[in-house]
Amino acid sequence: MTKTADFLIIGGGVAGLSAGAALAKHGRVLLLEAEDALGFHSSGRSATFSHFGIGGETVRALTAHSRAFFLDPPDGFGALARIMPAMFIANEAMLPALAELERITRTLSGAVERVDETSAARFCPALRWAPDAVVSAFVHREGLRLEPNALLQGYVRRIKAAGGEIVTGARVASIGPRWQVRTEAGVSYEAPVLVNAAGAWADRVATMAGVRPLGLTPLRRTIIGFDAPPATDVRDWPFVKTAVDHLYFMPDAGRLIASPVDENRDDPCDAQPDEYNMAVAAHRVTEFTTLEVGRFTHKWAGLRTFAADRVPVAGFAPDAQGFFWLAGQGGYGLQTAPAMAEIVEALVTGSAFPDVGATRSQIEPNRFSSSPRT
Ligand SMILES: Cc1cc2nc3c(=O)[nH]c(=O)nc-3n(C[C@H](O)[C@H](O)[C@H](O)COP(=O)(O)OP(=O)(O)OC[C@H]3O[C@@H](n4cnc5c(N)ncnc54)[C@H](O)[C@@H]3O)c2cc1C
Repeated sequence: MTKTADFLIIGGGVAGLSAGAALAKHGRVLLLEAEDALGFHSSGRSATFSHFGIGGETVRALTAHSRAFFLDPPDGFGALARIMPAMFIANEAMLPALAELERITRTLSGAVERVDETSAARFCPALRWAPDAVVSAFVHREGLRLEPNALLQGYVRRIKAAGGEIVTGARVASIGPRWQVRTEAGVSYEAPVLVNAAGAWADRVATMAGVRPLGLTPLRRTIIGFDAPPATDVRDWPFVKTAVDHLYFMPDAGRLIASPVDENRDDPCDAQPDEYNMAVAAHRVTEFTTLEVGRFTHKWAGLRTFAADRVPVAGFAPDAQGFFWLAGQGGYGLQTAPAMAEIVEALVTGSAFPDVGATRSQIEPNRFSSSPRT
């Protein structure tokens, strides 16, 4: 027997769930997730922070637009974020990037202040101020520490409350025309609209459906955890990131986590951290701080999947009616999810493109139509 719906969504990460919650207002949603748990891949492995030190202009606009949703969540969501300062630091070579990021952050959010060594120490006393380490910094007082679990569960509740269904352990194995989908377990589903929110697997899902892939690139990112210095309460330390992609670190449940901001090409998989990138993370912590990284208390890796222009993709495939792309969320899929869900709802239902600070042509997949794809 084939189960039918108005919208069939492949992928139970933040992309698929946020899309499902938005579309559940317009018809019956059926969401299929390959793993036994929602958010098992990228959405459960993020650093859980929203800031402007990542992505280009479009991503920053989507991030800015999404802040209101996180700060004042709609009914049915618990607390989704707490304000936590973000400090951006630079060595000599990074000074131009720091100045540009400060200008951008000030424009988008305000609440920005330059800090010297003394005032920076009130936020994070462990910075190593030296000509070859930190020489300048600014603080954005209104960074957001996100609660991804509350976000995903809020979307789940919305889908279910509207009569939608979420099936885990349902790996899609084949896709036929208009859109008949069969899982590895042999269960069939059908809907006129198929939303491809399969994260690192999105190109593979498209190929399965006979749709031209976008040439998405999954890049692995590593995070290490380590103990705070003895007798030091790090809970109020900020998120600290170099002005260019080199290092970030922040407090996490009384300990510290750090990333070398690595981007290593990988196949879609259950990504694991490698020794080299863990060692690089530890080295860079000691390069920019007085902290010592002893044993790793925990570590993980995940895939950040990008389109060629590093802007998320949402929209119907130009070459397949009813096939909707929702992919390429890169390293900002959580912090842009509320804006992206508004875009999905508008594009699927044919209503006016929302005022999210980005244009339709920046987001839709047909922006790649004239360029060759791999
Ligand atoms: C280390 C790290 C740090 C990050 N930090 C941040 C951060 O601080 N802030 C931020 O906003 N973002 C961050 N990100 C990025 C963010 O996590 C991603 O952009 C986001 O999670 C992508 O969501 P997604 O739903 O597209 O992908 P996923 O969460 O990977 O979901 C895709 C789902 O599709 C399923 N799927 C695939 N194929 C099939 C199939 N055939 N059948 C059924 N299901 C299938 C997969 O099992 C998977 O669960 C970070 C990412 C990493 C790895």
